[in-house]
Amino acid sequence: MNAAASARQVLAVKYGYRVTTRAESYLNYHMYGEPDADLGIDYYFWVVRDGAEVVLVDTGFAPEAGDRRRRAHYATPAEVLPALGIGVDDVTAIVITHAHWDHTGNVRQFPRAQLVMTEAEYAFWTSPVAGRAQFAAHSEPDEIALLTQARKENRLTLFTGTCTPAPGIELTEVGGHTPGQLIAAVAADGGTAVLASDALHFYEEVERDRPFAILADLPAMYRAYDTMAQLAKQPNTYLVAGHDPLVRDRFAQYAATGVPGEVEVTDVSGPPT
Ligand SMILES: [Zn+2]
Repeated sequence: MNAAASARQVLAVKYGYRVTTRAESYLNYHMYGEPDADLGIDYYFWVVRDGAEVVLVDTGFAPEAGDRRRRAHYATPAEVLPALGIGVDDVTAIVITHAHWDHTGNVRQFPRAQLVMTEAEYAFWTSPVAGRAQFAAHSEPDEIALLTQARKENRLTLFTGTCTPAPGIELTEVGGHTPGQLIAAVAADGGTAVLASDALHFYEEVERDRPFAILADLPAMYRAYDTMAQLAKQPNTYLVAGHDPLVRDRFAQYAATGVPGEVEVTDVSGPPT
């Protein structure tokens, strides 16, 4: 992971929000002997811009899927990107960190983009066990079908371990939260941004060693926390959590004019301020 000078810009786009509770968010929260409390959860997708080349990391949830689950939402990528000076056709690739509904919901807006995800993630969500209630609650069958369709069209790259889908972007499979969850380390303007997505919903998971409540493999989740803690010790390398409102506190706001509604854009191209 080389954080040498580049013009690569990394933006976290908050497009939705919900108030949940600590007891709902952390696995076996009662173990910690602390009172329950409300916990805000942000919904993000991420934009990596390298000159004219744009790679999206996830796509957020589809408005109808958000309505069904009563999540507040403000805009989809196709509605936000123009305000950032990006056309839908500028998106050459989409990294799918995992196949949960709040990450795959708008892949359909980019019918020409190359998709990349882990083999383990794809294999799991196209297998019968993914239809069991505890897993099915977090996916949308039509969005999984779209991945299968993309594979037939040779638009879907599957990998195991690590993958570099574009210069300066290194993907690492970590599992845990889902069978093939990945994290994306991006050599950005001001350092290496580790887009943790749902390997790290909230910073507290790593900082207090508290697993998130939704998971496929607890040992793998703990190992993913170790992997991220190690990465964060490297020079000029920092973690960008997948759903934590602290991202907006810790990093600089990106002044984008014309973004829809309550969308907030945070510049994670450099270390926390
Ligand atoms: Zn998520």
